[in-house]
Amino acid sequence: MPNVVIVGAGIAGLTAGIYAQKSGFDVTICESHTMPGGNCTSWRRKGYLFEGGMHWLNGSGDGKSLNKLWREVGAITGATRIMYNDPFLACDHEGQRVSLYRNMEKFEAHFYETAPEDREVIRKLCRDMRRFARVNIPIGDIPWLKVRGKKKMPLGELVRMIPAVSRMAPLGNITAEAYAERFKNPALRLLLSNVVGPSYNAISLFFILGCYVSGDGGYIEGGSLAMVENMVKQFTALGGNIRYSSRVDRVLVSGGRTVGVSVPGGAIPADAVIVTADTLSAADTLFDKPLTEPWVKIMRRGTELTMNVFLCYGFEADLSELPDSTVFVLDKPFEYADKTIKTLGFRNYARYPGYAPPGCSAVTVTISKGDTYGYWKNAKENGEYEKRKQELSDTVLDRLEAKYPALKGKAAVRDTATPLTYERYCGTYHGSWMTRTAPGQRRAAYPCKAAGMINVYFAGQRLIPPGGMPPALLSGRTAVQHLCRDFKQEFVSS
Ligand SMILES: Cc1cc2nc3c(=O)[nH]c(=O)nc-3n(C[C@H](O)[C@H](O)[C@H](O)COP(=O)(O)OP(=O)(O)OC[C@H]3O[C@@H](n4cnc5c(N)ncnc54)[C@H](O)[C@@H]3O)c2cc1C
Repeated sequence: MPNVVIVGAGIAGLTAGIYAQKSGFDVTICESHTMPGGNCTSWRRKGYLFEGGMHWLNGSGDGKSLNKLWREVGAITGATRIMYNDPFLACDHEGQRVSLYRNMEKFEAHFYETAPEDREVIRKLCRDMRRFARVNIPIGDIPWLKVRGKKKMPLGELVRMIPAVSRMAPLGNITAEAYAERFKNPALRLLLSNVVGPSYNAISLFFILGCYVSGDGGYIEGGSLAMVENMVKQFTALGGNIRYSSRVDRVLVSGGRTVGVSVPGGAIPADAVIVTADTLSAADTLFDKPLTEPWVKIMRRGTELTMNVFLCYGFEADLSELPDSTVFVLDKPFEYADKTIKTLGFRNYARYPGYAPPGCSAVTVTISKGDTYGYWKNAKENGEYEKRKQELSDTVLDRLEAKYPALKGKAAVRDTATPLTYERYCGTYHGSWMTRTAPGQRRAAYPCKAAGMINVYFAGQRLIPPGGMPPALLSGRTAVQHLCRDFKQEFVSS
């Protein structure tokens, strides 16, 4: 049985591990952290659970092509309860609450009622949402591969997607914010700018809106940790082995062929290595020399990093009357990393069982404003890191309390993660966890192999921009398909 070492136990690493074990390889995953999951994680602080990795899962919905894959890797099982928050986003604006509902007819009626002045643009928005709701990610197999349980999308499915495909060029050339500017109503503008983020292209906005109204984009009960635990269970039940606190320093290559990896304390021999650590970091640090492949150069040049500050609050207050996800305009904007923050979005887990002590609520705030790595790195070097974290946490808390007076003085627990935190715990390049797809940008598709190195494969969300959990899943599966083809083994998925 050929043995394979996988670098990283995030979604891509676990996916690759599961498919490789099923396909007859003997797999060891080396994970630098003490736990699996990578960016797909959550953590407990004094009775509060803060969800830090999964807000919505593409493929949670039955009938979606990705759903089959999530089930194959055990992320979703027959016992998994999936929660569909409705509305999935709301805004409190000038005394009015406007919501994005999952039911298309309810969504449409609510928008017409809220903004009769925008009737024509709402009609077009809903028309395009219906088109994107029919999008089902095509999943295939690489050529010249023996596959047990071949995936082929029925022709009818592909035809159903043509109307959405026809809208991709015009929507791909503008930002979500520019799209939202078509609306006169300020609350609708605010909501539509903040579904995916104002600077993303509008295709990303429609992918998400379409996903939500098609009955997809749910949240697995127990969140990131529950999902990752399911995958670990599946992997170990198949005979796979995970070594935690086992940071790979080097992928060992001899005569152009991998012979294993080196970890503190020695080398682990392997017939093949699948690298699922962030490709940008791995290409620079895991080989004797930084990789200079043309595709790696394109990735270095073309990746616009998405990173955030993730602020967590445990409130001794029951917020179950508030929506699960809200965005609002600040009466008092504030400065952070040379940028002016004018709106805040927060997630409220008051209705999620076990996320807070009784009568209390876990709340998280994501501030995603371009590349702030240098800002935090400087702060660290100047000895101001903790102070700046505290100041930002104080400022955000002040704005939340000003908007929702019931929160005043109720924050019992606080925790803040910066790009340096993500870098430290997940090894992601500059603490970034996704890639921004800007207007007009062609979607890059990166291969999973590097020339001149036999039996080394790459997987992970960076290979399929903009990233996220589905690209991690898909790239892990593709890497194993290449592995199977090279080793002349059948790819087994079920
Ligand atoms: C706040 C937040 C919210 C998000 N929300 C969503 C969402 O709602 N939906 C969605 O689809 N995605 C979401 N994402 C993105 C998603 O979590 C990630 O894109 C995805 O989990 C990436 O998986 P991965 O396996 O490619 O990489 P990673 O999660 O980065 O996993 C890589 C693993 O490799 C390990 N590693 C790194 N270097 C080494 C080394 N040298 N040796 C050994 N191990 C190593 C790391 O510790 C890590 O465990 C969110 C991310 C964040 C941060």
